Amino acid sequence: MSPAQQLKGRILVLISDSRVNRLLENILLSSGYEVTFCEEQHCAEKAIALKVPTLLMLGEKLRGGNGLDFAQVLLRKYPGLPIILFVERETPEILKEIIRFGISDYLCLPLRVDDILTAVENALSKSQHNKQWVLLEARRATASLQRKVDELETMTQLGHHINGSLDLDSVLSSIVEAAVELTGAEEGSLLLLDEETGELYMRASRNFQEEFVSTFRLPTQDTLAGSVIQTGEAVLLDESSPTKIKTAYLVHSLVYVPIAKDGRVFGVLGVDNRQKSLPFKARDIKLLSAIAEFAVTAIENARLHENTLLERNKLSTIMSAIEDLVIVVDDQNQLVLVNEAAHSVFGLEDEDATGKLFRDVFSQPELIELVESADKRNFNWLEVTLEGERVYSAQIAPIPNLGLAITLNDITYLKRLDIIKTEFVNTVSHDLRSPLTAIMGYVDLIERTGAVSEMQHDFIRRVQISVQNITNLVDDLLLLGRVEADADAALEDVFLDQLIHFVSDQFSDQIKRHKHEYHYDHPDTFMPIRAHPTHIQHMIENLLDNAVKYTPQGGVITISAKIEKDQAVMQIRDTGIGIPSLDLPYIFDKFYRASNVDSDTVGTGLGLSIVKAVVDSHNGRIWVDSKLGQGSTFTVVFPLKKE
Ligand code: ATP
Ligand code: MG
Repeated sequence: MSPAQQLKGRILVLISDSRVNRLLENILLSSGYEVTFCEEQHCAEKAIALKVPTLLMLGEKLRGGNGLDFAQVLLRKYPGLPIILFVERETPEILKEIIRFGISDYLCLPLRVDDILTAVENALSKSQHNKQWVLLEARRATASLQRKVDELETMTQLGHHINGSLDLDSVLSSIVEAAVELTGAEEGSLLLLDEETGELYMRASRNFQEEFVSTFRLPTQDTLAGSVIQTGEAVLLDESSPTKIKTAYLVHSLVYVPIAKDGRVFGVLGVDNRQKSLPFKARDIKLLSAIAEFAVTAIENARLHENTLLERNKLSTIMSAIEDLVIVVDDQNQLVLVNEAAHSVFGLEDEDATGKLFRDVFSQPELIELVESADKRNFNWLEVTLEGERVYSAQIAPIPNLGLAITLNDITYLKRLDIIKTEFVNTVSHDLRSPLTAIMGYVDLIERTGAVSEMQHDFIRRVQISVQNITNLVDDLLLLGRVEADADAALEDVFLDQLIHFVSDQFSDQIKRHKHEYHYDHPDTFMPIRAHPTHIQHMIENLLDNAVKYTPQGGVITISAKIEKDQAVMQIRDTGIGIPSLDLPYIFDKFYRASNVDSDTVGTGLGLSIVKAVVDSHNGRIWVDSKLGQGSTFTVVFPLKKE
């Protein structure tokens, strides 16, 4: 059987010469080919569209068309279709076109049986070869694609592993495993630089003996791995005879790539073959370099994690070492941190309070209010008595993006000092009062006992003013002492609105003198508070005195009193000089006077201390809103008498 018969194919013939067609039919059919004849171009098109033939025999001249043009159209659509062209004459132009369009072969009149069969066989066998080549290439391309997909999958898995695990040992082991698998190597290792000794040690490995790994130490001088550290360049080694890698081990082939961050090389990722002499390729360097990037990320992640742990440990050591109580809540008032001191003072030793609501763990209503009303900003500290006797100053500070920190420091000793100081001041004031009265009396008597000169009169007046000032001071101190000491004395029903009326009347001359406009707003009916009427009166006097005194002539002073829920609220507003914000925290301290008060304005700085002592002894609250140069508003709140 001839090769042509073996190939056998479906041949489509489109030639307008009937003699040629007859000849072809005889020859091709008898040689075992399946032959279809078409007379028109469109009929051939249809037949090809239905099933592409193994060969097309095409006439140069077609009925109503040109064979070369038709061949060009078909080859664009079916580049693998072999075409044999029949030409009447073999001209150089025709041959050029045939070559240009990629037509397989041509036949020329007169036709000979052998020529026809040879042309057909050649065209078919060339086409067959082409097909096989395409198939092989496709297979190769598919295999290479598959390999790339596998590599990508391995890389993705590595990425997931690194992101999902903080266990550096396991992550680095998978990195070396991936390096070995993807390069088809026998062994792999990840070497890191020991900064202290300057040597490389094996941090992770695949297919190395455990003992070899644990004792592996390689200098960076005169070694392959060391050269990677020093140059930052990858190394690919391929020798037919095994090479001894400087005191390490013998290999046939090897790839080392640097592990580097920000230009600093601190390790080497390598794969090698010791048994087989399979060479590595440039592609393996690329692969290993990509895998080395994962190692950098993993080591960096581990370093960051370690730093975070270190910082956390530092913080928790500080927190447990400090004596102050520290409590941190998030913006939902859930506990984030309670330090050891707070645990022990609040008796929470056995409790893990984290995550619980502040109000569910701490029972002190004043602390709960401090935390829960933190954003209302009326006050951000308070004194709280814990364990029955110890006094703490509680302060809150906002922590951006987290919540609030509450710190409590023990100020019991300060409180005791304060009591001792107050007692001392009270005693001294008391002892001063009598001699002062005596001095005043005798000074008054001087003028009555005989004529005095103008100058003597002036001196006496100055003595009187000074003694009066000291007497005022002593009176204020005594009053303060009484207010502080009288905290537990019997209380009466006091109507705040009536007391304000009373004090307003006392001040009416003073207000007129200053040409102030004065308003008093209050509801028709008021509710009583339980209080010392004289203390409350002193409180109102001091507040009104300040409003009048610290408002330049012709200002407006407004007092309002109202009932809000279960509280009596009083406000004194003026349009005066205001209080600098730096002074605000201290104005209730004894003897404190703000920096904007000029020295001619009389005062001892005790008025607001008396006010504060009165408010505190009645379980009330007081605060001030003030704008420099615009005025101040003092607000006092007392609990109403309980039914
Ligand atoms: P004292 O009242 O003992 O005679 P004082 O008025 O100076 O003296 P406080 O009443 O305790 O003392 O007030 C303390 C300080 O607060 C004042 O010196 C003043 O600086 C400031 N201050 C108080 N009330 C007002 C106000 N209404 N406007 C502006 N500043 C004020
Ligand atoms: Mg005052």
